[in-house]
Amino acid sequence: MNAGVSRRSVLASGLAIGAGLIIPGAPARFLPGGVRAADRRDEPLTESTAKDTRTDLLIVGAGPFGLSLAAYAQQADIPHMVVGAPMGFWKANMPQGMHLRSSCDWSLDPLGVHSIDAYLKNIGRICRDVEPLSRNFYLDYAGWFQREKGIHSLDVTVSSMHTEGRDLVAVTEGGGRIRSRFIVLAIGFGNFAHVPPELALAFPRDRCDHTSDLVDFGRLKDQRVLIIGGRQSAFEWAALMREAGVAAVDLCYRHDTPAFAASDWRWVNPIVDRMADDPGWYRRLSPDAKQQLDQRFWSEGRLKLEPWLASRIKHASIKLHPRTAVTGADQGASGIEVALDSGEVLTVDHVVFATGYKVDFVRVPFLANGLRSSVNVRDGFPVLDEHFQASVPGLYVTSLAATRDFGSFLGFTVSVRAQAKIIGRNISEVMNGVAASKARSTLASSRRAIGAGQRFVPPPAFGAPAN
Ligand SMILES: Cc1cc2nc3c(=O)[nH]c(=O)nc-3n(C[C@H](O)[C@H](O)[C@H](O)COP(=O)(O)OP(=O)(O)OC[C@H]3O[C@@H](n4cnc5c(N)ncnc54)[C@H](O)[C@@H]3O)c2cc1C
Repeated sequence: MNAGVSRRSVLASGLAIGAGLIIPGAPARFLPGGVRAADRRDEPLTESTAKDTRTDLLIVGAGPFGLSLAAYAQQADIPHMVVGAPMGFWKANMPQGMHLRSSCDWSLDPLGVHSIDAYLKNIGRICRDVEPLSRNFYLDYAGWFQREKGIHSLDVTVSSMHTEGRDLVAVTEGGGRIRSRFIVLAIGFGNFAHVPPELALAFPRDRCDHTSDLVDFGRLKDQRVLIIGGRQSAFEWAALMREAGVAAVDLCYRHDTPAFAASDWRWVNPIVDRMADDPGWYRRLSPDAKQQLDQRFWSEGRLKLEPWLASRIKHASIKLHPRTAVTGADQGASGIEVALDSGEVLTVDHVVFATGYKVDFVRVPFLANGLRSSVNVRDGFPVLDEHFQASVPGLYVTSLAATRDFGSFLGFTVSVRAQAKIIGRNISEVMNGVAASKARSTLASSRRAIGAGQRFVPPPAFGAPAN
């Protein structure tokens, strides 16, 4: 803290987080550009802040992964800056009334202080009072976390990125230039909404949406809707739509109806925590072991539906079509006529693709005119080293786009703390010049480990992975 201004007093003065706000006397490490507060007192966090700024670490994305990393960077005294709307994806692409599948143990704080439990204590509640956690509860928690940590995010969109000498430069939509030694892409899910091309082509563009683009159900009131997809999102969107006055919802999916059964994620935390101390652990597994582990993780998520959803789905206006595929669609006199391979034809007004997310890194728009050709991509994913660093030195990629090299866990908030520690530590080490010598010994030890040709041996507490 500097100039006798505590973080609490900054918060108590009513200054909120976001664009266009003045942060008088904010602690040095909260300011963008790695510039000390003493030098840049009263600097407003506006688009103009980014006009020509320099920092050591630029975090692109202020979702759970970006915020957690910012908290780590702050305590490690890494001058840093965060850009993106705080929890933007959760606010704009997840509907009011949605509930989480995860619980109170998947917190944001890599330091373990500002956990969900600590937040609950602060508001006089316990986990049982708030389970299943709602999207709104999680947003409140994230807002509290950000305030407690004093993390300020500049609400701008990065539109392109390139290298200049040893630095990386992010250019914002408003023409700002942020030059940084390290950039971490914590851009999450938004760029990777997936719709199978044959489905996208089958329906009129203005009569269909991916779930991530449909969070205001009011506009579908009294309409007939077909949801294509049969996992948690499809069922939850169906329940929320019915509750918002949608006249009829048909769900069509190629598999059996998943069971309404509680997911057991307890085995995941210890594995992910362990990853923080052994970042190469997942990549050293044999392909079979990786597949088993990912399969076990996805089974919890994809083969189950949350039990609290069951009663909300059992309703005359929601019809399930398991083991069914769409074979064609035509505009009819009273709506879109959708042919199913069961022989049935549905007439609907709108179609929703609950078809999930698929990483295709070259689709990230801001890479188009700069770094795209320099980033090694395999199977659609950026190829990352043990510290989340891509083939472009100084560029790190976390969250969903890191699942190929770090496992499916990276698609969920359970991993935010581990990734923050791994990336934050590595950047600290590079800045302090110790990485080179460490890298040599890590390389030697990982060569020894890979040479041993391991199979995945579950840590004793977890039992054997499910088949
Ligand atoms: C429907 C749904 C339900 C889910 N439920 C759960 C759950 O219950 N539990 C759980 O752990 N996980 C859940 N997840 C996964 C969860 O969303 C992710 O784990 C988490 O949000 C990823 O965090 P993130 O910070 O990487 O990305 P995001 O939350 O996607 O945030 C990334 C941010 O980056 C910003 N951004 C992107 N591009 C730019 C740019 N060019 N310039 C500036 N900013 C940019 C975006 O605006 C966005 O706000 C769910 C996902 C979905 C889709």
